[in-house]
Amino acid sequence: MASGGPEIEQLIQLLARLPGLGPRSARRAVLQLIKKKQQLMIPLSAALDRAVEAVRTCEVCGNVDTQSPCAICADPRRSESGMLLVVEDVADLWALERAGVGAVKYHVLGGVLSPLDGVGPDDLAIEGLLARAPEFSEIVLAINATVEGQTTAHYITDRLGHGVTKITRLAHGVPVGGELDYLDEGTLSQALKARTAV
Ligand code: ZN
Repeated sequence: MASGGPEIEQLIQLLARLPGLGPRSARRAVLQLIKKKQQLMIPLSAALDRAVEAVRTCEVCGNVDTQSPCAICADPRRSESGMLLVVEDVADLWALERAGVGAVKYHVLGGVLSPLDGVGPDDLAIEGLLARAPEFSEIVLAINATVEGQTTAHYITDRLGHGVTKITRLAHGVPVGGELDYLDEGTLSQALKARTAV
C-alpha cells in the first residue's frame, strides 16, 4: 500500500532497512522529514552527501572515520598503555569509547566465526590482527559472550600462540546495578568463577 508518490515510498523503504526502524517508524520519520523540510530534510540530505564523500574505513584497525588511519590509530598517546582491544564491530568500539576505557587501541574483526552462516577466518580481519599483535603488550578480547564470540576468542588465542603477548578477555558476571535474582544461570556461575578478593 503506497503512502505517497514513488519518491516518498522509496525513502520509506530505505529508512525501514535501518536497525531499530520498521516500516511503521520509517513512515513516521519520512512524514516528519516532509513536514520539516527546511529544518530537517534539507540539512539531512546535505549531511548524507558530505558523509558519503568523507567516510573511510581505517586501513589499520577497521574503525570508520573521515581519515585513514583513523583518529584513534593516529593518536600517539594511545600507544602508551600497550593495550589492543579486539572487538566484533565498530558499534562495540564506539560503546567502549563512550564508556571511557582509556588510552587504548582497537582492532575490529568485522564479525565472528560462524560455520552455519559461512563465516570463516578469512572473512574476518584476523591476519591483520596477527600482524599488529607484536606491537602490544596486552591483547584484550572484548568479544561478545555468545557461543560464536567465544569460539572466535579461542581461535584467536590459538593463532596468537602463547608467546610474549598477554591475552585477556572481558570479565563476565553481575552487571553494575544488577540483582542476582534476575540473572540467568550462565551469568551467575561465570560471576562466581570470576570472583575477586575484597
Ligand atoms: Zn584505526
